[in-house]
Amino acid sequence: MVSTSHGSPAKSLTAITVIPQFPQNPKTLILHKCKTSRDLNQVHAHLIKTRLLLNPSISENLLESAALILPNAMDYALSIFRNLEQPDALAYNIIIRSLTFKQSPLNALALFIEMVGNSALPDEFTFSSVLKACSRLRALREGEQVHAYIVKCGFKANGFVLNTLIHMYASCGELEVARQVFDDLPERNVMSWNSMMAGYVKNERWGEVVELFQRLLELDIGFDEVTLISVLTACGRVANLELGEWIGEYVRANGLKGNIAMVTTLVDMYAKCGRVDKARRIFDRMDRRDVVSWSAMISGYSQANRCREAIDLFHDMQKANVDPNEVTMVSVLYCCGVLGALDTGKWVDFYIKKKKMKLTVTLGTALIDFYAKCGCMDDSVEVFDRMPSVNVFSWTALIQGLASNGQGKRALEYFNLMQEKNIKPNDVTFIAVFSACRHAGLVNEARNLFASMSKDFGIEPRIEHYGSMVDILGRAGLIEEAYQFVRNMRIQPNAVVWRTLLASCRAMKNVEMGEEALQQIIRLETPHSGDYILLSNIYASAGRREDALRVRNQMRENRIKKVASGCSVIQLDGVIYEFFAENMVCPHSEEVYNATHDMMKQIEAAGYVPNTADGRLDAEEDDMQQTSVSHHSEKLAIAFGLIRTRPGTTLRISKNLRVCTDCHNATKMISKVFNREIIVRDWNRFHHFKEGSCSCNDYW
Ligand code: ZN
Ligand code: ZN
Repeated sequence: MVSTSHGSPAKSLTAITVIPQFPQNPKTLILHKCKTSRDLNQVHAHLIKTRLLLNPSISENLLESAALILPNAMDYALSIFRNLEQPDALAYNIIIRSLTFKQSPLNALALFIEMVGNSALPDEFTFSSVLKACSRLRALREGEQVHAYIVKCGFKANGFVLNTLIHMYASCGELEVARQVFDDLPERNVMSWNSMMAGYVKNERWGEVVELFQRLLELDIGFDEVTLISVLTACGRVANLELGEWIGEYVRANGLKGNIAMVTTLVDMYAKCGRVDKARRIFDRMDRRDVVSWSAMISGYSQANRCREAIDLFHDMQKANVDPNEVTMVSVLYCCGVLGALDTGKWVDFYIKKKKMKLTVTLGTALIDFYAKCGCMDDSVEVFDRMPSVNVFSWTALIQGLASNGQGKRALEYFNLMQEKNIKPNDVTFIAVFSACRHAGLVNEARNLFASMSKDFGIEPRIEHYGSMVDILGRAGLIEEAYQFVRNMRIQPNAVVWRTLLASCRAMKNVEMGEEALQQIIRLETPHSGDYILLSNIYASAGRREDALRVRNQMRENRIKKVASGCSVIQLDGVIYEFFAENMVCPHSEEVYNATHDMMKQIEAAGYVPNTADGRLDAEEDDMQQTSVSHHSEKLAIAFGLIRTRPGTTLRISKNLRVCTDCHNATKMISKVFNREIIVRDWNRFHHFKEGSCSCNDYW
């Protein structure tokens, strides 16, 4: 509304339609008025009619409008460009720039060559665009030619061009050359430093990023938010908490908290430095969070193996209506796998299908691994089959999944298939393959594979491979061969290898070798309570009660702590429930203990006898707390599952320790008495309990 200067009541004004006075000032006019390609057509027609198109500044403006303002108008812009009689550098610039960013950097490069051929002189903007095109294409050879041309055209001191040159070399992985350009810069501004740092970031040379920033501070050049984001990212990767905190403080003191990317990087830095709770506090205080912020926090929890919290936060993210991206989903799937949270992971799979997201190798492999860890091998294979492309990691995840689900033979079939497809296995693949041999008791295959590892595939066995071999031999009862194998290892056996041998000694009741194994473990590292318990068990099973007691007293005197306390997880209707041994705090105490009591009574009536003698000496045994075997965490979880689900529903439990003998017997009985399938994943394999027996055939 317009008011007059006299302060008199405003007259009612009739609306005047402004008729666009076409080319009074076509320059601003075209850029502002053209919102659709129809507008552009009209302007274009008008310019032709009035012959104004012959004026280069006007035609270039039309070009710019077409190329930059309108989406998908690149072809239109190109057709205008092609009709220009003698396009000058400006016109070339517009098209080269648009091609670089919009359609095809390759065409941008071609046009640049044409431009040089037509002796239109490139300016700094041309060089900057064409270098960016080279970066995008990782076209080092072409980039070098442009570099030479820059020198020839006298731009070798142009900071703007040289910064893009640094970026180009860094994108092509030529960091040393990039650094040379940087070091030779006549004048370095923040932009130059940022370009160099971004190059190091892109090539994951985190140490150099930090180093460069420290030099920047020494020289007192100043920095901006782009610098800080690079440095914070690096701090997270090299766990430089001190510098990270310094930047955090700077961000706080300088009121940069509104920069969502900056604060997200701060969250990421704290999480990667192991300060997950601090990261969470910053995350909670953010005014706005985008998918990157949520992902940073979720993967922070997942990397810290705080999977429960990762999933809870993911549910919050869903409530906040933020769509997850690939990074979020990979973290979430990992956590679902660890927890056995089938519902949540399935939701992710469903979401990928619903949104028709591309099943990338990373995402697909995460899904394979997740389903395998939940004991759903059919789904795992189905994902593998529907992936448009797979790599060695996908094959390995599948082979490992089959192996730990007791399908050792099938795992080896896939291993053979993988070689037929000319995918070269890596060292992790062999761990999966040995795991298959172990679970299926395939000793000969394992021996042959171990020999062919270095011979045919050029992979030197690592300590893990040796350990697997010892395990395979030990489990097959070939304890002497296992011992000789350890003695003849090409690298020093570590405590894990001796521990594996110790475990085999237990099964074979071999006292002498067990004693030596424990001696070796003590020599190499601080022993676990499990080591003493194993030796004590060996004595007990050989009828040497006195020695068994002596070892246990020794353990108590030396105050050997348990590695971890037993924890079992069950997911029901999307909610994750955790159970600990009875002494731990449990939100469902009353209900859970009653259910467990009833469950145990029923299986006892069916003939189950608690095996306290062996169970007392096993995984969840705890001397101080005297946890009774009937309250081992998986029993609590199973009892809870029984009362909270419909009859016949399969129960899926995951557990952080090895299943003890007593729980194994009890679960077999439960599967029969309650007519349930129960799938328990312990720390290294699956037990599919059904109709009173287990898929592991009591060998685990
Ligand atoms: Zn148990
Ligand atoms: Zn079993």
